[in-house]
Amino acid sequence: MIVVKTREEIELMRESALVVSRTLGVLAKEVKPGVTTLYLDKLAEDYIRSQGAIPGFLGLYDFPNTLCMSPNAHVVHGIPNDKPLENGDIISIDCGAFKNGFYGDHAYTFEVGEVNSDIQRLLKITKESLYLGIREFKIGNRVGDVGYAIQNHCEKHGYGVVRELVGHGLGRKMHEAPEMPNYGRRGRGKKLIEGMVVAIEPMINMGTHRTNHLSDGWTILTKDGKPSAHFEHDVAIVDGKPELLSTFKYIDEALGIVRNDEHEFRQIPLLV
Ligand code: MG
Ligand code: MG
Repeated sequence: MIVVKTREEIELMRESALVVSRTLGVLAKEVKPGVTTLYLDKLAEDYIRSQGAIPGFLGLYDFPNTLCMSPNAHVVHGIPNDKPLENGDIISIDCGAFKNGFYGDHAYTFEVGEVNSDIQRLLKITKESLYLGIREFKIGNRVGDVGYAIQNHCEKHGYGVVRELVGHGLGRKMHEAPEMPNYGRRGRGKKLIEGMVVAIEPMINMGTHRTNHLSDGWTILTKDGKPSAHFEHDVAIVDGKPELLSTFKYIDEALGIVRNDEHEFRQIPLLV
């Protein structure tokens, strides 16, 4: 069952989402060769707690840390460790925060030092597909329209769309109905309705869409060992249209990136 949110609840969810957005902004300044994912995990935990929130993943389904840290061929759900990041790596950081009874959940794939152009292209196309999917998250469409937009864009570029993991409804629980696959058929699936809040999160592989599991019981990695990217936003339907609750603005500021791909979506003025 889809739990629709009131305007007031959506504002609370925006607060939770923005705690995560700012956390990712803090991390953006720290991701570089030589830094360990455990160090970044501790930074994130401290920052989230300083915002009056608690880490959303820590202890969820018994996950041991604040961040899911998935470098290179790791797709999602990697566990932070003491291995330093190296020049040319990519690191997908997925972060959750819980505040005022609601979860925020979003993710970004960072470049570590100088990354080769094939990988840069994977990141660019995956991020583009996220916004193309969000554009379809509106009244009159169905879940399949969102997945189709993501899949079509990524497959056009020869990439594999992970099937095993999907986006999801978000609210008082981290994972609510409906599932939001990153693949689909136009006009198929559940109807999108006013007050829905979801996490849209393309997980896109440079090669095959097929995946394996590491023996740690958590980490999902690509079957062919090629890199994988992951970008995630929290989005509500307000007045029939997609409204972004999370933002990559803090990351862009930290990295000196100028982009305008969030401008078409309504956001409240960011006061913090
Ligand atoms: Mg996430
Ligand atoms: Mg998610």
